[in-house]
Amino acid sequence: MQGLTMDYQLTLPAVLRRADQLFGRKEIVTRRPDRSFHRYTYADFVSRAKKLAVALGGLGLQKSDRVATLGWNTYQHLEAYFGVPSAGLVLHTLNPRLPADELAYIINHAGDKVLLIDETMVRLLDGFRDKVNLEHVFVFTYSSDGAPGGLPGYEELLAEADEGEFVYPDLDERDAAAMCYTSGTTGRPKGVLYSHRCICLHSLITSVIEAFGLSEADSVLPVVPMFHVNAWGIPFAATMHGAKQVFPGPHLDPQSLLEDFEQEKVTFTAGVPTVFLGILRELDKQPGRYDLSNLKAMGIGGAAAPEGMIRGFKERHGLTVLHAWGMTEMAPVGTAGHLTSDLLQEPEDVQYRYRAKQGIPLPFIEIRARGADGLVPWDGETMGELEVRGPTVASSYYEAPEAADKFTEDGWFRTGDIVTIDERGYIEIRDRDKDLVKSGGEWISSVELENALMGHPAVAEAAVIAVPHPKWQERPLAVVVLKEGESATAEELIQYIAPKFQKWQLPDAVEFVEEIPKTATGKFLKTRLRERFRNYQLA
Ligand code: ADP
Repeated sequence: MQGLTMDYQLTLPAVLRRADQLFGRKEIVTRRPDRSFHRYTYADFVSRAKKLAVALGGLGLQKSDRVATLGWNTYQHLEAYFGVPSAGLVLHTLNPRLPADELAYIINHAGDKVLLIDETMVRLLDGFRDKVNLEHVFVFTYSSDGAPGGLPGYEELLAEADEGEFVYPDLDERDAAAMCYTSGTTGRPKGVLYSHRCICLHSLITSVIEAFGLSEADSVLPVVPMFHVNAWGIPFAATMHGAKQVFPGPHLDPQSLLEDFEQEKVTFTAGVPTVFLGILRELDKQPGRYDLSNLKAMGIGGAAAPEGMIRGFKERHGLTVLHAWGMTEMAPVGTAGHLTSDLLQEPEDVQYRYRAKQGIPLPFIEIRARGADGLVPWDGETMGELEVRGPTVASSYYEAPEAADKFTEDGWFRTGDIVTIDERGYIEIRDRDKDLVKSGGEWISSVELENALMGHPAVAEAAVIAVPHPKWQERPLAVVVLKEGESATAEELIQYIAPKFQKWQLPDAVEFVEEIPKTATGKFLKTRLRERFRNYQLA
């Protein structure tokens, strides 16, 4: 016998309609590039998101066509977050920090038809415009001066649209709503395609008290960029609740953020450790300078939040860190480090140790870890690769059959993170089975650096590993074996590969060694190298 409840579809237009009906008076604040503030209400936001949907409908696009964005965290980007999926189209957020060739590859692979681009980023177009088949480009502008380079403006696009033509569409909750590409460990970036249902459920499960604990009363500032896995889904969840939303625009430095927190009475914020290490340093320099009494929690993830930072915020400034773990393939939040009631009875040291773990799974997310001999026990000691499943987890990549090995035969997703799981279900990330360096929340491919280095005539072998860095958490170190009788300096090698990479992707240092340890099958034994250079001091 089946239950007799409605098959109501979980879609983003339903979230928009809720915002429309209930929260019109609530505020959305954005810091513009010139540092001034743009303020408007949910009523304005909904009206403009509807106009965007109507305008996109007028461009002759087909259902599920991709509309890309290159933008900061701003009100226009939020309009795209809802306007694009509410037109039955797919929002594709692009990362402006990627090299032009990679952007071109991603735009072509996704088949993007339209690009909405921030006026501060239009110069990026020069790098890929002639390599892609975009049919339309519109520019997010902040003044009435019009868009740079004579490009069509987003404001003009909206001005021509009649909001009255908008009809809330009846979409299938399994329809695609948004997509993000994730850096490949080997090979090209891969696309993750989120359904409406996935984003709606993610908004609900990340809002529980044990995770972000969002409500209408909150003032939410996502530091994590809207081009990074939908700013961890926060704009979707905040809109669902009708929370006040504060967008920092391009101003992600500690002082600007702290001013925003204070001025806008921010209650919840989230981002990568690098940003919060900077904020902690700033607070330590001027204790008591900012009134952060409204800030309930700071969600920190994307890389491990160090225990020292979690303690520092609490003990010196009375601020609470919520450590979370996730992946692009999980929309992205999978676990959160809220303490269970029994842990709150434990001594402080034990509590901090748990706060520094990555937390327990959110509702409907299942976890398990697999070692060489099968699934590992939940003993907090035995390590294995974390596997996950749930309604917000990718079931495959977009048109990438070669990546099928990322899924187990029984349909779980293999995260590539090496973890322990303890008896309470808290995971702790111990290592990574992916050849990537994560610097300030952005990935750098070791493999690409290695291949480039090995193109140098004096280099026999090169392996790139992540070494700890006080600001960026990880930076690439190149470990190089020179060919017999050849010589090259670190500077020469870096200069040789520099044209192929963005500056921030280049190794910070080169170590010359006699040989690189290898596995039985001849692959670089990166675990051994990481062990050897664990305490490496970057100059
Ligand atoms: P995100 O946008 O969250 O950085 P990615 O898909 O780019 O998503 O990166 C996911 C990977 O980042 C994880 O597989 C893991 O290796 C790492 N990661 C994410 N959160 C944490 C965390 N809290 N602690 C340690 N590593 C983390």
